[in-house]
Amino acid sequence: MSVLVVVECDGGEVKKSSLEVASYGSQVAQMLGTTATAVAVGEATEANLAKLGEQGITKVLHDAEPRLKDFVNGAYTKLIAAAAQKEDAKVIVLANSNIGASVGSRLSVRLQASIATNVVELPKTDGGSFTVKRGAFSGKAFADVKLDGDRKIIAVKKNSIEALHEAGKTAQVEAFSAQLTDADFADAPKQVVMQDQAGGILLPEADKVVSGGRGMKGPENWNLIEDLAKALGAATACSKPVSDVDWRPHHEHVGQTGITVSPNLYIACGISGAIQHLAGVNSSKVIVVINKDPEAPFFKAADYGIVGDVFDVLPKLTQAVKELN
Ligand code: FAD
Repeated sequence: MSVLVVVECDGGEVKKSSLEVASYGSQVAQMLGTTATAVAVGEATEANLAKLGEQGITKVLHDAEPRLKDFVNGAYTKLIAAAAQKEDAKVIVLANSNIGASVGSRLSVRLQASIATNVVELPKTDGGSFTVKRGAFSGKAFADVKLDGDRKIIAVKKNSIEALHEAGKTAQVEAFSAQLTDADFADAPKQVVMQDQAGGILLPEADKVVSGGRGMKGPENWNLIEDLAKALGAATACSKPVSDVDWRPHHEHVGQTGITVSPNLYIACGISGAIQHLAGVNSSKVIVVINKDPEAPFFKAADYGIVGDVFDVLPKLTQAVKELN
């Protein structure tokens, strides 16, 4: 019996959210007196998978099938289910990402497992029962959910727990074949087109985000957002009305109806902080709000607030960051 952790990889690297998931899984394994095994999805190098030992993983199963590089729902589900069966995993931990949400629900049916998504804390275990805390209503509330049954799936919200770093510890990487066939790739994308992201940083994975709202007044002022983003090595984003009027492309729109981001730093410039916007950014670690209206609702969600005019504050902030670099 073990805990199985689903590790998402991209361009050979393990995603940051998966380092958190691996740390979560290894701590659950410790609670249960067992070990944590990972199964890798996406493009991974053996050296980077071995480094998952630093997050407490003892073994990593790696299927080198090249078509697993890009997300394919059917194939990923079969691979993870096969790994869960091989390891007799009673608990499966994955990221509350697009991939995790998609695969988690399928796995739950296939493995007859109970599932909790958006989980923000380690579980409380009591005589075999599992209670997890999950975010609800766009992060406005939390619910304690009891997971029943022999198998449990937990999807962990990004930035909810710290990744462990036990330097020098390595995991054993083991070749694994889920015997995938062409039929498992029936829903594979024909072509993957990468959106043109400012600075080449993918918004959903960005560690820092500078975001602009209607307070920026027009697309001609976006150089102020881009200059700060460039100085910080950040991705750029925007509120929904900004993309609705084509000041910025739709793939930069964050919020309930856009992309969810969970960076370490989110800087909101001239954004009011409507609930629908907050829904996409409220798992950011540190939120900085720049708004000229001291009553703007975003200040309630901010770690740092600057009451001021973006046209005054942004150039000064960019200059200060450049001086630090
Ligand atoms: P505004 O509300 O117009 O706010 C502009 C802010 O800029 C104000 O707070 C103002 O004080 C400030 N400001 C103005 N000038 C300056 C200046 N010179 N310097 C500093 N500050 C200044 N919105 C999203 O963002 N994402 C979503 O996913 C989303 N989904 C939605 C889904 C539904 C079903 C609905 C109904 C709405 C949704 N919205 C979404 C819209 C949301 O309700 C808000 O209308 C929107 O977020 C407001 O955008 P904003 O803050 O850029 O603009």
